[in-house]
Amino acid sequence: MSLLPPRVDRHTHLEGSLDPAWVKAQAQREGLGLPPSLEALWRDEIVPFEAFIPAFFFSCGFLRGAEAAREILRAAVRRLAPGADGPRGIDLWVSPHHLCRGAQLLTLDELWRGMDEGIAEARAQGVQVAVVIDAVNHFGIAHGHEVLDLVLPERPDWVVGFSTGGLEGVPFRDWAPVFDRARKAGLRLAAHAGENGPGTNVRDAILEAGVSRIVHGVRAAAHPDILDLLAERRIPVDVCLTSNRCLIPDLGPHPLKAMLRAGVRCALGTDDPGVMPCDLPGEWRKAQALGLEAQDLEALRRHAVEDAWSLQTGLIGGTRLDRAFEA
Ligand SMILES: [Zn+2]
Repeated sequence: MSLLPPRVDRHTHLEGSLDPAWVKAQAQREGLGLPPSLEALWRDEIVPFEAFIPAFFFSCGFLRGAEAAREILRAAVRRLAPGADGPRGIDLWVSPHHLCRGAQLLTLDELWRGMDEGIAEARAQGVQVAVVIDAVNHFGIAHGHEVLDLVLPERPDWVVGFSTGGLEGVPFRDWAPVFDRARKAGLRLAAHAGENGPGTNVRDAILEAGVSRIVHGVRAAAHPDILDLLAERRIPVDVCLTSNRCLIPDLGPHPLKAMLRAGVRCALGTDDPGVMPCDLPGEWRKAQALGLEAQDLEALRRHAVEDAWSLQTGLIGGTRLDRAFEA
């Protein structure tokens, strides 16, 4: 059996993907000091999640103009394993409300134009891209509605999903109306859950907010009933080993193998490869180092391809995705 990594990055953020050397050069040019937490993460050190947030926002503070957005897509393609065989895809999370409203780094038109050009280039190289809109959980549901107000009126056809991220501070039952609105608008639903919040958030996100995909979800490993729920419903779970190690130091030994053995459909992603430097082949090697056996690695490979939204969106620009899923 081949042990080559799948060429599908199942979870990466546009804002967390700016090249560290470029960010450093931009900061120096503008006389800005680097946040200590960002420098620590670049050194592969562990930081509390609360300190990760300013590092993330500082890093993407140089995402100005369409060209920067396009360059990030190019970098994301480069971080896939080299080679042209097999399906290649990127499930890309983006936070347009922060970029275009909160920080006002670029206009929504510039963001969409840069991403559209980058996605077209990626497709020309055989790499499919699907985009998931990310709202910040701890900013609350009014923020969630503002994100949808911004995105829904002129949604590009490669925007296929809606998600929450950030601190898991607001209960998912409170977020349910926002998720419901996104679903009715034709978006698939995902959530960062069971990362900096309890594993029970994974269950709440599924049962109370109706999400069909979980990012991280690793704290669910302490709850056999929640692993059963994930497995029974065939919920894809995006696991990011470098990110988990840096941001969840109390996790203990990573539960990826246990989750796979419980039948959970885990696959690998890079999360924020510009903030916590990593690439897909490196994540694959880290998975192998966790003692995964051939059957586990094969499951990782299979899930990466079968559940990737980027590889299920051949109907982008044609049939709406919600109808495709209901069929
Ligand atoms: Zn993430």
